[in-house]
Amino acid sequence: MVPPIQTNTIDFDAAKLQRLGFSGKRQPKLRPISLAELRRQLTLQLQTSLEVERIVSLFFSEVQRLVPLDALGYQHQSSDLRLEYGSRSNHSAGYRLTHEGEYLGELIFRRNQRFDEHELNQLESLLATLLFPLRNALLYRAAIQSALRDPLTDTGNRIAMEQTLQREVDLARRNLQPMSVLMLDIDHFKRINDEFGHGTGDEVLKAVANTLKTRLRNVDMVFRFGGEEFLVLLSGTCREAAALVGERLRMGILELQHLVQGRPLDLSISLGCATLLPAESVESLLRRADNALYVAKREGRNRLSMAG
Ligand code: GH3
Ligand code: MG
Ligand code: MG
Repeated sequence: MVPPIQTNTIDFDAAKLQRLGFSGKRQPKLRPISLAELRRQLTLQLQTSLEVERIVSLFFSEVQRLVPLDALGYQHQSSDLRLEYGSRSNHSAGYRLTHEGEYLGELIFRRNQRFDEHELNQLESLLATLLFPLRNALLYRAAIQSALRDPLTDTGNRIAMEQTLQREVDLARRNLQPMSVLMLDIDHFKRINDEFGHGTGDEVLKAVANTLKTRLRNVDMVFRFGGEEFLVLLSGTCREAAALVGERLRMGILELQHLVQGRPLDLSISLGCATLLPAESVESLLRRADNALYVAKREGRNRLSMAG
């Protein structure tokens, strides 16, 4: 018989959090401590996450061991972050956070009772513990987001498309909601590249993507998944409504006045529309939209074709 192998594993994160008093039931009220001790503990704790939401909420609950607060707000516009913990109150003290000239957002402490000078000094001292963890979390967030976006057109890329489609198909099925997709391709795009160069082609791609985004309600649902091919995901949208959206997009591109060498280019798109069938897979839905797009091209372009 083979003797059992003795292994000792330690869940480092759990161990660390346990040591800091975070496992199991949370104490309703944390023991008050000195400024120096709280700074030391915060420095350790805030390093345990790369999530902005987690870092700010941890900061909110820990800071109250020294300075009572009713609420804490945080926002960072370019990351599209706006967080609010606790309930709104009368008095506030706001801070613009920067580190070596780098903007890290704004933090607002709120309370029904006015903050005194001593408390503000303490809060300012505690803010320093936020800077590095917050900077790392913001960088991490930006990296994740850029991995899912197409830099040229600022639409979702293929990876984002696959993730989002699977999630939306699951949701549509669970909630018994309709869902449709539009697959679209710029007509005779190669001619633009050939006649005016790749740089102009890129500008046209951007202009087309912008038109799609401005004509749609939910801009997060536009994906560039191929050279000049886009997918528009329409959750909660039935076949008839999707056809209307498709027509609106087709007209939007026809009306687009994109000037090259002082003259507007003739631009059009062809579209294939497919609506999710019961128990259909993502692959099958895309295949049907692609087939419909192929029909639209074959029948003369600048048109919408509905999948069978
Ligand atoms: P069709 O109406 O049949 O769609 O004709 P088309 O010329 O648009 O289609 P085709 O698929 O033959 O050509 C697409 C072209 O898109 C080929 C490629 O050079 C160009 N393309 C792909 N990606 C990019 C890009 O990122 N930038 C630019 N400028 N061109 C690209
Ligand atoms: Mg094309
Ligand atoms: Mg193409």
